[in-house]
Amino acid sequence: MKVFVNPGHDPNVDSGAVNIDYDVREADVTKQAGVLLERGLKRAGHEVMLLQSDDLDAVVAAANDWPADIFVSLHCNASPGRNARGTETLYYSEQGRLLGEAVQKKILSKVPTIDRGCKERQGLYVLRRTVMTAILVELAFIDNNDDLELLENDMPAFTGAIAAGIDEYFRQAEI
Ligand SMILES: [Zn+2]
Repeated sequence: MKVFVNPGHDPNVDSGAVNIDYDVREADVTKQAGVLLERGLKRAGHEVMLLQSDDLDAVVAAANDWPADIFVSLHCNASPGRNARGTETLYYSEQGRLLGEAVQKKILSKVPTIDRGCKERQGLYVLRRTVMTAILVELAFIDNNDDLELLENDMPAFTGAIAAGIDEYFRQAEI
């Protein structure tokens, strides 16, 4: 199947959220996650298009033109008090919910993270404008130092879980 992987933000122009204690930027973490996820998906026999760009029109157009079977955007969360923790998966469509639930479940089984659930979000451009099944995974809270430790130590487990969730979705959807 054809999987579009979109690491959030852009290391050259938009850092995304930042952990100020350790000077770790979301754009760099999502880039690393994207590369690992691409590797895992290709190993499982999928075709992958990887695009990290601040130009969300270009991201959506690339996914729709390819066209991808599914779209996965990778982000890290942040909170004002820096004390929120955990993983959540966001979706817009019903198929997105099915994929999101499969991915969220696999992440919880492989990474010692807190479950913030699989949630519908109306306002996310890349989820609304892509025409295929789409999710956005908020891996963990980059500004929380405990969650940062997960992002730094457990990234292969995160991306392996996302790939496994994608496989499970494809099996269920029988496409
Ligand atoms: Zn982000």
